[in-house]
Order: sequence, then structure tokens, then C-alpha cells
Amino acid sequence: MGRLSDKVAIVTGAARGLGKGIAEKLSNEGAKVVIVDLNEEACREVVKAFSDQRYSITSYAANIAKQDEVKNLFNYVTDEFGTVDILVNNAGINKDSTLHKMSMEQWQQVIDVNLTGTFLCTQEAAIRMKEKGTGRIISISSASWLGNFGQSNYAASKAGVVGLTKTAAKELAKNNITCNAICPGFIDTDMTRGVPDEVWEQMISKIPMGRAGTPSDVGNMISFLASDEASYITGEVINVGGGMVL
Ligand code: NAD
Repeated sequence: MGRLSDKVAIVTGAARGLGKGIAEKLSNEGAKVVIVDLNEEACREVVKAFSDQRYSITSYAANIAKQDEVKNLFNYVTDEFGTVDILVNNAGINKDSTLHKMSMEQWQQVIDVNLTGTFLCTQEAAIRMKEKGTGRIISISSASWLGNFGQSNYAASKAGVVGLTKTAAKELAKNNITCNAICPGFIDTDMTRGVPDEVWEQMISKIPMGRAGTPSDVGNMISFLASDEASYITGEVINVGGGMVL
């Protein structure tokens, strides 16, 4: 029996990287996890990869930037599992470029997924959690929300996630729903493996702990925030970055 036994959790963007690690951690703590991703095939592979564990993991393909797809997702989970206890807004993309070269398309795509997608899922989750009188919403922002060279779109979207989280925390506290944001620093995933070697080394040199984070470093914090032990923590922005931002 883990500390999330029989809780129903949705983790977006969980076909790989951080989301996959978070889904594994929540499953390991006893939650019934629905992993959501654009990439249906990769989602099924994750379910297959964990099939020899005693986990309850189901996959669902959806684009979280599309309101009708998000509504269908939450209706599916409610019909299938009866409730939604935990939402982890993890799906996110980056399309980096310096300000003067950034196209409207780069700007809009990142805002649509990272900010609008997080809003749409938060809204659907809040409707169900309010009915139940309890819930946990955890959104992945980023250390970049404070501003980062070449990431005006991404930083704006992640700062938006902080504003959304704090507002949702104020509005939903009376319903016993907590809303928190996590700011991962530099985590070893496909997203960060995309950077050139010299940038990788430069990033590591800025981390006091001297290493990149892992998806389970982030999963451990999420598992705590999703648990009953964290019932009095809301509206917080928590760095998980090995001291990268101090
Ligand atoms: P990743 O690119 O490895 O994985 C992201 C997943 O999200 C992919 O499987 C992708 O298919 C999915 N996805 C993208 N758009 C989607 C959409 N519209 N609908 C549904 N699924 C979608 O990225 P990651 O490194 O695992 O990052 C996960 C989250 O953590 C992101 O929000 C990212 O911004 C944030 N983050 C990552 C780091 C890091 O160092 N890796 C640091 C700070 C924040």
C-alpha cells in the first residue's frame, strides 16, 4: 500500500521524459495513472514497458491544447475510473529563438501547449474535484519562468503557469483542492538532450549539485505534493534543480 493507494491520477505528456518518470513514481505509490500524450504509439509502449510491474497504467491519446480533446479525456477518465484525484500538468514544448527572430508561429505553439493546455486541463480537473471536495493539481513550470536567453515564448508560458497556479490555489482552497507549481532546473530528458554538447556542459557547470536532475527527482516531489501529507501546501512554486536557481 503506497501513500497514493487507489487515487486516480492524470499525467499529461507522459510518453517519455519527465512525464514518464512521474507516472512511474505515482504508480509505484499505488495510484491508478492515466498517461496522456499526442504520441499514441509511444504511450502504449510506456504501458507495455511497465506491464511486468503491479501498476495500474492506462494510456490515452490527446492534444491538450485542444479543448474538445481535453473534455473527452476528462469524461473518459471519469466514466472509466469514477473520479480524478490528481492532475499533473506536465506536457510542454520549446521552440527557442532570440526575440527578434521569433516567429508568430513559434510564439503561439508554445503558448498554446504550455499555457492554454495547462489551463484547459486545470479547468476540467477543478470541475470534478470541486464536486468531490478534494484534489491535487500540480503543474510543471520551469526555472526559465524567471527569464532565459532565447526563450521569450517558453519563459512567458511558464511564468503564465505560475500565475495560473497561484490564482487557482486562491479560488479552489475552500474546496480543499491544492494547486502548486514545480520548477525543474536542468533534467536529463529528450528535451535537454537536444542541446549541443558545449551547452550541456555549460548548464551542468551552473548546478551546485554538479549533475543534471532525473525524472525521478521531480517525481518524488510530485508524489509528496499529491499525498495527504501535503494537504496544507498550496500556491507554492517549488524548485527541483540541484540549487541551480538560488
Ligand atoms: P519531452 O519533450 O521529453 O516530453 C514532453 C512530452 O509531452 C512528449 O512525450 C510530447 O509528445 C508531449 N506533448 C507535447 N505536446 C503535447 C500536447 N499538445 N498534448 C499532449 N502531449 C504533448 O520533455 P520533458 O523534458 O520531459 O519536459 C516535460 C515538462 O517539463 C515540460 O513541460 C517542460 O517544459 C518541463 N521542463 C523540463 C525541463 C528539463 O530540463 N527537461 C526543465 C524545466 C521544465
